[in-house]
Amino acid sequence: MYIVMLGAPGSGKGSAAKILAKKTALPHISTGDMFREQIKKETELGKLANSYISKGQLVPDEVTINIVKDRLNWEDATNGVILDGFPRTIEQAKALDEFLKGQGKSVTLVPEIIIPDQVIIERILNRATCSNKECGAIYNTKFKPPKIEGICDICGAPLSIRNDDNEETIKSRLEVYRQNSKDLVEYYKENGVWTSITPDDPTAGNASDQVVETILKLTK
Ligand code: ADP
Ligand code: ZN
Repeated sequence: MYIVMLGAPGSGKGSAAKILAKKTALPHISTGDMFREQIKKETELGKLANSYISKGQLVPDEVTINIVKDRLNWEDATNGVILDGFPRTIEQAKALDEFLKGQGKSVTLVPEIIIPDQVIIERILNRATCSNKECGAIYNTKFKPPKIEGICDICGAPLSIRNDDNEETIKSRLEVYRQNSKDLVEYYKENGVWTSITPDDPTAGNASDQVVETILKLTK
């Protein structure tokens, strides 16, 4: 099962992708996480990626496509993956289709999570992520705060705020998403795999669980 999660930054696609990955026992592949890891390790790739990410721009297709292809070649990806943040452009979508076609496979479903802009901005500005890579739990300091401020409920590691989660880059990221998602949605609609998911109450603590339930029903 190859699921492509779509949704604006802060739509909750990362949280939903993580839950979905656990429930399906498929790997969660987040290009944003992969880039952040490279940035932390200060690799050449990380430096290059950071020069785009810090401005709220997309990392070039060629670079992004290569790291995803490498990841899809891992043994654990043979039965499917949950893609989060990839593809973001038509070029990337086409590269993914070509790659899967080579293995006699194709994208199963492309759920797009739809959330009002105000909720998105509020969410991103209050977002805190567990700094423990193995855990990576996501909190909202306002709507879904940890029990102890700054500490992950699940694993006890300190929470961190993403560098690019500030008002300036959010606007650019939303704009970039809007520009690119139009074509992507069109592309996946034509392929008959796109579906939209609008949570009843996106600020509810279990909004991501609801999104995941909907996706699981659609893939049965
Ligand atoms: P968000 O969805 O909250 O913007 P991500 O963690 O998915 O966050 O991505 C963070 C940044 O990494 C993006 O703003 C972009 O600069 C870069 N990035 C992630 N995925 C891609 C991709 N598929 N193509 C190009 N750039 C990407
Ligand atoms: Zn944690």
